[in-house]
Amino acid sequence: MIYLGCHLTSSKGYEHMAKEAISIKANTLQFFTRNPRGGKAKAIDETDVAQYLKLAEANNFGKIVAHAPYTLNPCSKDAKTREFAHMVMTDDLARMEYVPGNYYNFHPGSHVGQGTLAGIEMIAEMLNDIMKPEQSTVVLLETMAGKGSEVGGRFEELKAIIDRIKLKDKIGVCLDTCHVHDAGYDIVNNLEGVLGEFDSVIGLEYLKALHINDSKNPCEAHKDRHAKIGEGFIGTEAIVRVISHPRLKGLPCILETPQENLSGYGEEIKMLREMI
Ligand code: FE
Ligand code: FE
Ligand code: ZN
Repeated sequence: MIYLGCHLTSSKGYEHMAKEAISIKANTLQFFTRNPRGGKAKAIDETDVAQYLKLAEANNFGKIVAHAPYTLNPCSKDAKTREFAHMVMTDDLARMEYVPGNYYNFHPGSHVGQGTLAGIEMIAEMLNDIMKPEQSTVVLLETMAGKGSEVGGRFEELKAIIDRIKLKDKIGVCLDTCHVHDAGYDIVNNLEGVLGEFDSVIGLEYLKALHINDSKNPCEAHKDRHAKIGEGFIGTEAIVRVISHPRLKGLPCILETPQENLSGYGEEIKMLREMI
């Protein structure tokens, strides 16, 4: 089964997201757990969630992905900023139990001059503190483009975080095609090599979700600017090879391309399904 969906706004609730996904023939979705800048989350409405779960089941949704606010920095120099990330992620994981068994993806953070190793240690320490054996959610580290002092631009850095995590069955990776490409992994000309490297460094069993984006910049640009599928340096064919790769089957594939509206995502999903 190929699970294809896109990032949706969660401001109108879970049931609304499911309806939007269904309207564009998506069978997975991603949403921000709260304002992407990190504000207070809306209270969970249990009837809304129940309606969502019904629709998701009836329409054979795959696993869905919640995305933490991208402004969180678990390895900031500033203790207050780290505490804020800790507080938001703890609350998000509690809320995720209303839609159990799904994924919670976050950007590992930026070490802002403290060094990659120091960053890795702070990220792992925070995760070990907030992850609980009874949680049903798997936390995903997103592969980053490696801009500035971002941690997670190299597979080795994600592996170093995972190595330090106590609850190994509750941690995974979300591979963003734009980010890995910008980080220098040539998924256009050497997808097998990149997946082989992922497998030998991290282990493909940790790869749980894909962000499907084209890139406005060439490989190794360390930029992170998403393009519509087919309008960037990755191209439609390379994207289709990722989505239909036998070793990536069943993973939720989430579009985060710059679209003006929902129907833009609908057209991309239709085009990709036809090509697959
Ligand atoms: Fe992201
Ligand atoms: Fe992404
Ligand atoms: Zn990005």
